[in-house]
Amino acid sequence: MNRPQTEPHNPRSVSSDRTLFRLREMFGEDRAQVYTDHHFRIANEDSRIVAFPQSIEELSEILQLAASECWRVIPAGAGTWLEMGNRPSQFHLVVATEKMNRVLEYEPADLTATVQAGCPLATFNRLAAEHRQFIPLDPFGEENSTIGGIISTASSGPLRCAYGTPRDWLIGVCVVDATGKITRAGGKVVKNVAGYDLCKLYTGSYGTLAVVAEMSFKLRALPSSEKTLISFADGPTALCNLVAEITDSDLQPASCELISPNDIGMPVKTRQLALALRFMNEPQTIDWQIQEALRLGVNLKSMVLSGEESKTFWDDYRAGEIAAQWDYSLRINVLPQDLKLMIDDLYRLFPQANWRAHAANGVIRVHAAAGWLDEFKNRERARKLAELRQQAQSRGGQMVILRATADVTEQLDVWGEVGATTGLMRALKEKFDPNGQLNPGRFVAGI
Ligand SMILES: Cc1cc2nc3c(=O)[nH]c(=O)nc-3n(C[C@H](O)[C@H](O)[C@H](O)COP(=O)(O)OP(=O)(O)OC[C@H]3O[C@@H](n4cnc5c(N)ncnc54)[C@H](O)[C@@H]3O)c2cc1C
Repeated sequence: MNRPQTEPHNPRSVSSDRTLFRLREMFGEDRAQVYTDHHFRIANEDSRIVAFPQSIEELSEILQLAASECWRVIPAGAGTWLEMGNRPSQFHLVVATEKMNRVLEYEPADLTATVQAGCPLATFNRLAAEHRQFIPLDPFGEENSTIGGIISTASSGPLRCAYGTPRDWLIGVCVVDATGKITRAGGKVVKNVAGYDLCKLYTGSYGTLAVVAEMSFKLRALPSSEKTLISFADGPTALCNLVAEITDSDLQPASCELISPNDIGMPVKTRQLALALRFMNEPQTIDWQIQEALRLGVNLKSMVLSGEESKTFWDDYRAGEIAAQWDYSLRINVLPQDLKLMIDDLYRLFPQANWRAHAANGVIRVHAAAGWLDEFKNRERARKLAELRQQAQSRGGQMVILRATADVTEQLDVWGEVGATTGLMRALKEKFDPNGQLNPGRFVAGI
């Protein structure tokens, strides 16, 4: 299992009373809070101090203070997904961008916008909808998930089938590094990327390189209507074949989700597997695409959901993904053509598993309530999960543990091996955060 690459330098003893006192002394009472409940919980600590800068300048000053005091910092947005990743090896302070939540610029005519990191995606997309535009991302998570958090975790959802991931929409970024230095990369216009694209580096770096403070995006026009076609089959073969045919055709589903039997988000109770195809476009184009998809899957039982029914299905589907009952959550990535083989492995190792897949992208999410793995003893449980990961890796893929009980995460690294890129990632961490101040140990290879 990967351990943090190095212990942070100069880990001088830090008292939380002094941390709180210094923050309040310098920035005011309201800029630092102590939480003892679930807010901004990182692991199983009793309490945590959270600083709330309200501008990029204040964020920079807080990080300067942290550097001078040797505080290890957890960058955060709204703090909804701080348990993701390895438990940081040390931390003294959470710095949350939640109150840096303004839309700084929005030019509907240019289809671009610049926002502060703490602006929730849902809030921005409600504003953009007034101009029939949106940032076409629908990552799973809470309504208050911030755009900075979504960029830092490279989060995406079913819409990635047509619209890709955060990397495809971010055109500029402004970050504050561990010393408090403010750096800009990219710009506010779409054609602006010269040399190495730092936006891509910060996307998905889980707050280990810098705190993202502002971001510029390109936007898309909101489709005028939508429909969803759901087809059913007894096993994965027919539906995986249909996905392959759709991928090779002129069809352009916005989402293409393969769903295991008895899924809690399905509009009908069924013991069959389902393939849900979401089409978003002009009504005539959608109808043509649905007819074509029905022709390709002619032998399958199917249903069509229109307008509000379709939207409700996807809202319920999203809610099902983050349901509180999931004590285990895994994400497996393989090549789309290996999806069927990976599902076979999943059934062989965990016959009762609930899973959903971004089928056209080869991403399977496995979810389970407590008790799912009870039939396996502790060591056996981790061994089976390791075997599942091994199957993914043997196909050039990977398996990340998004959530699991402590007995599993104590035995298995949540990220798994990243192979040859480990050295490069460590070198980047060393360059961007040489003292290991930001999120130490949280990310892959103990970075
Ligand atoms: C129950 C649940 C399930 C989820 N499942 C998925 C899933 O299946 N797939 C998926 O793609 N996403 C998933 N997400 C993530 C979600 O889509 C958002 O990306 C996430 O919740 C971001 O919200 P936040 O603002 O609260 O970030 P936080 O929880 O505050 O932070 C998340 C991570 O990003 C870092 N971070 C946050 N803001 C910054 C910043 N400004 N600068 C640098 N680093 C920062 C933090 O250090 C932390 O590592 C899930 C979230 C939840 C709550």
